Amino acid sequence: MRKVSQLPYERLPIEVFAQQAQQIIDQVKGAASAQEVLAARDKCNQLVIRLETAQALSYMRYSINTADEFYLAEKDYYDEVGPQAQNYLLEYTRAMLASPFRRELEEAGEIIPLVFRSFEVELKAMSPEIIEDMVEENRVVSQYSQLMAGMEFEFRGEKLPRPMLMKYAKSPDRATRKEAYEVLGRTLQAHSQQLDGLFDQLVHIRDRMAKKMGYRNFVELGYYRMGRLCYGPEEVKQFRENIRRDIVPLVARLRTEIGKKLGVDTLMLYDYDLIFPQGDPVPKGGKEEIFAAAKEMYHSMSRETGEFIDFMLETEAFDVESRKNKWGGGYCTSFPAYHQPFILANFNGTSGDVDVVTHEAGHAFADYTTADNKFIVELGVGGMETAETHSMSMEFFAWPYMSHFFGEDASRYQFMHLLDALSFLPYGTIVDDFQRQVYENPDWTPEERKAAWRKLEAEFRPHITFDGIPYLEEGTRWQYQMHIYETPFYYIDYCLAQTVALQFFTAFLHDKKDAWRRYLALVGEAGGKTYPGLVAAAGLDSPFAPGTLAKLGKEVGAWIAAQDAALNAR
Ligand code: ZN
Repeated sequence: MRKVSQLPYERLPIEVFAQQAQQIIDQVKGAASAQEVLAARDKCNQLVIRLETAQALSYMRYSINTADEFYLAEKDYYDEVGPQAQNYLLEYTRAMLASPFRRELEEAGEIIPLVFRSFEVELKAMSPEIIEDMVEENRVVSQYSQLMAGMEFEFRGEKLPRPMLMKYAKSPDRATRKEAYEVLGRTLQAHSQQLDGLFDQLVHIRDRMAKKMGYRNFVELGYYRMGRLCYGPEEVKQFRENIRRDIVPLVARLRTEIGKKLGVDTLMLYDYDLIFPQGDPVPKGGKEEIFAAAKEMYHSMSRETGEFIDFMLETEAFDVESRKNKWGGGYCTSFPAYHQPFILANFNGTSGDVDVVTHEAGHAFADYTTADNKFIVELGVGGMETAETHSMSMEFFAWPYMSHFFGEDASRYQFMHLLDALSFLPYGTIVDDFQRQVYENPDWTPEERKAAWRKLEAEFRPHITFDGIPYLEEGTRWQYQMHIYETPFYYIDYCLAQTVALQFFTAFLHDKKDAWRRYLALVGEAGGKTYPGLVAAAGLDSPFAPGTLAKLGKEVGAWIAAQDAALNAR
């Protein structure tokens, strides 16, 4: 079987793309039958697959070594020509929507109405007049990614990439945690002009694009760019209020209790990564052991997941060691022409390493499962909230196997995982609402933006104090939350997904087989339904519905209390 490192890469020049795209567009416009439209659509999908594969492959090879000149140039090339390519696709989309055969295609089930709805959203997300701005936006985003990937943190005589530094943020020794955050803050501070400057540029570019397209500000455009088909700022506002009312007090109470156990009266930011005074559970082995355990787990889970993990391991579809010049986050991508998912991570010896084979592998499993879906090119696995539902739920379906990773610490890991999942909801809400406020007020100064962040922290995480932590106390936590620079408005997706994943968790406690069956169906249908449609079909409550979070908070809170009692009794 061909390994990921052996997959051939070839640039798709924009001239070739443009020529083929133009033919396809003409074919749609001149079609004399529904069949001709379908034939053109097939060609278009093949072309998109070629472009996406070339783009994803070059980006992957750049991200595993951001100092690689060849792939940096390739990545820059797609950054530069990507918007032009998108513009051709927009033209195609417009032709498809205007086709007199649309109704016939929909009625015959050849192209489902959801595809046309997603085309309509695409039209709202882009226009030829913003191509230049998009190119510029890509360039600035790249500068930020480059800056963050190359940033070194000097800690106790060693120069560490950020993922390695953050390992010390989980130290049972408070002075060590504090020092790690001080190093984090001071290093960011040394780059504060760039961090503020790049963000300021991005806000203005995005605001300009929105205004050129006739929107009041970037918020509306940002939602369309995320391809959201069935919820908008109003629904998210409602969700935010539910978080504030139903989740914030619960998390504040639980975390304050944890703080007491840690022997801390004021919970500082640097106390927040730790749950257990003796240190949080860490994987019992290194990379080898984690992958061996993952293989066993997926084989026990189901036939489908067993086949999937074998494929991933045989094709060497993981790059998990933290290195200098490697991009610092984690992601799952796929190379559609090869039906190949790929996972990048930065192992640092914490429980986060296990998330790679649960969370990221959850994404990869969905990509693998849906690779042949009829509308996969147009609809993908759904929006990002759907994709994150696949991955975050997989974290919970992996629970019965945690002793393979954590040995006798498995139940402590589960306690921590659940508490983290719940604590994430207020944080994710901050990240989302910060962006809304920033784009509603594009002329804010860096100071005003930081003040907005501090205010949100005080509202949604009143139990944490930033005082005295260099730079971060000014309200700059968001400057290393890379989504904020790189993919605006991609964040509430995690909160919506967590709300659904936690429901899968409670369903799983109740009936393992049934919950798994519903999950598998949700993954299989992926883009074929809207998010609320998928959630309803799985028999779960909409994250937006009143009462969903209140009910969930009660159930999860009760489980946490019971687990806490069990742990204390041991
Ligand atoms: Zn994810």
